[in-house]
Amino acid sequence: MLQNAILEVGDDGRIVSLTSDALNTREVNSLQMHSGIILPGLINMHQHLELAALQGAIPQGIGLPGFIKEMADLRSSGTLHDAGLEKSRALDAIMYGQGIQAVLDISNTVDTIEIKKTSQIYYHTMLEIFGVRPVDASTIWSSAQQMLTCFSQSGLAAGISPHSLYALSQLLFNKLQLKPEALYSIHFMESMHEKEWLQEGSGELGTLLQEKSKMFSQPKFHDLISWLRDITKASRLVMVHNTCVDREIVELLFNNLNRQEVYFCLCPQSNMYIENTLPDIELLRKSGANIVIGTDSLASNSSTYFIDELKLLQRFNSNLSVVEILTWSTSNAARALGLSHLLGSFVPNSKPGVVLLENINLAEMKLTNESRFRRLL
Ligand SMILES: [Zn+2]
Repeated sequence: MLQNAILEVGDDGRIVSLTSDALNTREVNSLQMHSGIILPGLINMHQHLELAALQGAIPQGIGLPGFIKEMADLRSSGTLHDAGLEKSRALDAIMYGQGIQAVLDISNTVDTIEIKKTSQIYYHTMLEIFGVRPVDASTIWSSAQQMLTCFSQSGLAAGISPHSLYALSQLLFNKLQLKPEALYSIHFMESMHEKEWLQEGSGELGTLLQEKSKMFSQPKFHDLISWLRDITKASRLVMVHNTCVDREIVELLFNNLNRQEVYFCLCPQSNMYIENTLPDIELLRKSGANIVIGTDSLASNSSTYFIDELKLLQRFNSNLSVVEILTWSTSNAARALGLSHLLGSFVPNSKPGVVLLENINLAEMKLTNESRFRRLL
């Protein structure tokens, strides 16, 4: 981090230069002074834009199996469709206003294409597939491919990824084809129920999945890890939530996967909303894991503000410095998107956006209750 720096930006938002000689500066036309930290645009690595209308629709603290059940009921009742996309469009504007420059967005439909096409935010859409009934596997796969074509024809970055390592029949799992130099995003170890099901084949989550399909057979955990390993040979992998990731799982992942290509995405407010717990952030930091941050959808988050994720992280991990969490929110995330040359840092000629973080405790490099992001450019 540079102190007393001058960031020179062209009329079109392109970075011209970044220098640290502000104390010796000469008179410069249109020079603005700001107190706080100036950073490139933020990157939200986990959002479900199409679920914005579900804010407050699902009670807090009901655990992952309860949340999945509520979500399935809302989807099948048509509530989501009836609510329309006004809240999604509003959320897009709120995110941009607070300085979010790029979003890795999970979608189950093509409904957000028009919003994304006209947005000032760069979206990479992950078309999510899940399904426990083997009979549905072909339909789910071909529908995802059709949606992918719609996004691609609209000039939007997109890919297909399973929702998680559970909720995936063996037949659907067999259909997953890996693309090189791509991006994958998977909800991972979001609750103890998921861990119990994946590792031991038992528990409440398994019961719920087997209720949905008597024919459901879960792919072996070993095969799933091999599949993740194959992803990281040539692509980047974002593991979302990691709430129940312990030392044993970190070792399993790092011993099998290409760890440079694995990104651990924290969604702290969502974890508190659903499970009332947070991931072991110290474990991830000490393991040298690549960390990024997402807000998750408004179905599991009562705030639309990215800064609230950072405040929550710092409240429970008092040794986290602002610089470290800003690195997770900018340059780490840009690397995960494969866009380091365009986003997440002040590279000359790039247009990463310019954001001011104000009202911070600069002496201790900590956020305060009043800290907030404000887009400058
Ligand atoms: Zn999610």
